[in-house]
Amino acid sequence: MEKFDHIVLGSGIAGLTYALKAAASGSVAIVTKRARATSNTAWAQGGVACVTSPEDSFDLHVKDTLEAGAGLCQRDIVEMVVREGPERIDELIALGMSFDLRESPDGHVELDLGREGGHSKRRILHAHDFTGLEIEKTLLAAVEKHPSIRVLEDHMGVDLITTGKLGYASEDRVVGLYVLEEKSGQVLTLRSDRIILATGGCGKVYLYTTNPDIASGDGVAMAWRAGAAVSNMEFVQFHPTCLFHPEAKSFLISEAVRGEGGVLVDGAGRPFMDRHHPLKSLAPRDIVARAIDAEMKRTGAKCVFLDITDKPREFLRERFPKIYETCLELGIDIAKEPIPVVPAAHYQCGGVKANEHGETTLRGLFAIGEVACTGLHGANRLASNSLLEALVFAHRAFLKATKNHRAPDDISLPEWRPGSVTDVDELVVIYHNWDEIRRLMWDYVGIVRTDKRLQRAAARLRNLQKEVQEFYWNFKVTTDLLELRNLVAVAGLIVDCALSRKESRGLHYTLNYPQADDKLCRDTITRRV
Ligand SMILES: Cc1cc2nc3c(=O)[nH]c(=O)nc-3n(C[C@H](O)[C@H](O)[C@H](O)COP(=O)(O)OP(=O)(O)OC[C@H]3O[C@@H](n4cnc5c(N)ncnc54)[C@H](O)[C@@H]3O)c2cc1C
Repeated sequence: MEKFDHIVLGSGIAGLTYALKAAASGSVAIVTKRARATSNTAWAQGGVACVTSPEDSFDLHVKDTLEAGAGLCQRDIVEMVVREGPERIDELIALGMSFDLRESPDGHVELDLGREGGHSKRRILHAHDFTGLEIEKTLLAAVEKHPSIRVLEDHMGVDLITTGKLGYASEDRVVGLYVLEEKSGQVLTLRSDRIILATGGCGKVYLYTTNPDIASGDGVAMAWRAGAAVSNMEFVQFHPTCLFHPEAKSFLISEAVRGEGGVLVDGAGRPFMDRHHPLKSLAPRDIVARAIDAEMKRTGAKCVFLDITDKPREFLRERFPKIYETCLELGIDIAKEPIPVVPAAHYQCGGVKANEHGETTLRGLFAIGEVACTGLHGANRLASNSLLEALVFAHRAFLKATKNHRAPDDISLPEWRPGSVTDVDELVVIYHNWDEIRRLMWDYVGIVRTDKRLQRAAARLRNLQKEVQEFYWNFKVTTDLLELRNLVAVAGLIVDCALSRKESRGLHYTLNYPQADDKLCRDTITRRV
């Protein structure tokens, strides 16, 4: 059993930022289930929303965030994140991150700010259209130089160990975790009093997603199994514009394309967003995703199109190099023809309930980044607020976790007991269950919901839970099996939260209760009893 002052699960923006700060006060293990750069962060295109321009203001950013959040944001958290943002950005720049600059009309150099849906001002700091990758590289380069940080790649967090599980009668707290070392197949026991969940989101719960394969909701599932409160899982953000092409897996066409004038059109080239919202193609994401869904259902089309052909080729190549090149490789010349797009699961607004310091309801367990539900996003995330949230909460969690710091004491943790388990004999069953969950979530728990569809999903998920549990107890654990176990748990939480919200609000839209009801405007909170 190895001991660490801090164990961070996940090597995206949230986990790496926390680790870099905490390393000054003790030993840090970053446990990450694939190669270190594999994260949602590395896929982020648009950028980081932050008030940096004299034409912008904290009040406006707060207002835009609250408006997108559809009445469910926590105002104090929104204000805090918006106000603390610039300092966190400065720290990132000091680490070596370079955001795009431009020359202003009066000749001085300033940040080149992008505009995205729901933002009343240009305030998105970006590095071309691969901002997340640049941030990931910057943070990893700093982590690599730090002697107190150990990065355990291909190590997957399995379950948290709590005093409750060990049979202690006093307050329940987290004291360690089990980690599967993929290469050896061994499950290791790690000891710490501070465990930071930074495991990202759960896009893989849906058939179509913009997320990479790591996004299987592990942190939410682990926290829930350990008894921590989980909140607002019904609010899954569907990105309106994922590239629709048989050879493109999960490739996002950034909202910034609409910010720069891209217009959503149907198969005949007719704009349709003016029928749905005064902001047209720049309406908030939930409205755009629902409008596309409605348009596709109405016409039977497999996709709609995003038209940015009125911009010069040079501009497109310079501003959106990744999108331009990727589309071109697939035979789509975005300077000449509209881009085929469909909505896809993109971002988890709910998650492990965390307070203003990133603390969960389980002592010693912090949740930061997309895995957390902090009150910033409410019922719908404003574009590019998530990287900002991760930076701000990583810092706050670090301040809290290192206050009154002491080394982990000598509780001895039981080793993982493999029992008489054997190797999984029928991998095909795991893949089949995985596909079934993703398809049923897409069909029954997607952009437009009904009670009947949700109940049908719940019934199927209950059976799948039983099958997966049987697998879990009878066979040696593998990453595939563990991800399936987490996926089915998270799918169940999304359905339960959705069923309990008897109104439509933000990203949760149900035909049974199509209006928002202010008497029901509160967080959905669930915990294992
Ligand atoms: C295509 C795309 C574009 C986006 N664009 C933007 C944007 O422009 N602006 C913006 O603000 N947001 C954007 N987002 C959202 C944003 O990227 C994410 O919300 C953010 O990066 C999440 O950071 P994170 O550190 O919380 O998690 P991630 O970056 O997802 O990192 C999670 C880490 O946890 C690890 N992990 C997961 N489970 C386990 C486990 N069981 N054990 C060990 N390790 C585990 C993963 O391997 C990974 O290293 C985008 C997302 C996508 C998918």
